[in-house]
Amino acid sequence: MPLLAATDLTKNYARDAPPVVDRVSFSIEQGETLGLVGESGSGKSTIARIVLGLIEPTSGTVLFDGHLVTGVTQRSLRPLRRRMQPVFQDPYAALNPRMTVEQIVTEPLVIHQRIGRAERRRRCEELLRQVGLDDVVLRRYPHEFSGGQRQRINIARALAVRPELLVLDEPVSALDVSVGAQIVNLLRDLQREFGLTYLFISHSMPLVRYLATNIAVLQGGKLVEFGTRDQVCDSPREDYTRNLVAATPEMRAG
Ligand code: ADP
Ligand code: MG
Repeated sequence: MPLLAATDLTKNYARDAPPVVDRVSFSIEQGETLGLVGESGSGKSTIARIVLGLIEPTSGTVLFDGHLVTGVTQRSLRPLRRRMQPVFQDPYAALNPRMTVEQIVTEPLVIHQRIGRAERRRRCEELLRQVGLDDVVLRRYPHEFSGGQRQRINIARALAVRPELLVLDEPVSALDVSVGAQIVNLLRDLQREFGLTYLFISHSMPLVRYLATNIAVLQGGKLVEFGTRDQVCDSPREDYTRNLVAATPEMRAG
């Protein structure tokens, strides 16, 4: 059974408007990465929000580990919410400027679990170490960090509740290329270490190619191509995909 299965997802934001997501189906096996790629406006973030249970599709279903995410009450979503965590594009917007790094990273622990102060500190230090922020002072505030460091803080926060699925919506699009490459390498290492499953969303085929097991190509709300990374990148069936592959140079491992 796949960890995540989306079937026939359709979303119309307005009743008379055309769908921005149109009968999209995909699944992700545990431990794998699905790269969801498409131009701006193709419906990627809408799919991310549906998968996370933040908005309802107009029709279609999402199953996480066999449990319905769509069409269910907030109450029954609650245990699933811990198991799938989002990481969004803008690392600053996602961080409360009035909270310290320690508060930000451990807030999900306080919400989802009972945890004492010493254990909270210990776990915070461990999480920051895991995202490569060993020397960070826990009482610092978000504005004192660079964009790359802030996204690492977001990732630490997402990992705090030991999720199984990360929904990464353009996680490096706001960062310089070299900083983004470091974050992508971190994501790859974390996936290996913790057996994480990723829905990795990007408009950049080189980034998707670097991380993905399978690639889904979205155009105007429709899935126009789906296959293994090598199938999609080496022998794309659609001109749209070919242009995405050709648009930017390949990313190197580092
Ligand atoms: P992407 O993440 O690929 O850029 P989005 O899912 O954000 O695409 O948006 C897909 C389309 O849906 C766009 O045309 C966008 O303007 C529209 N859209 C997104 N969110 C809303 C909303 N809350 N209300 C109405 N239209 C929306
Ligand atoms: Mg988006």
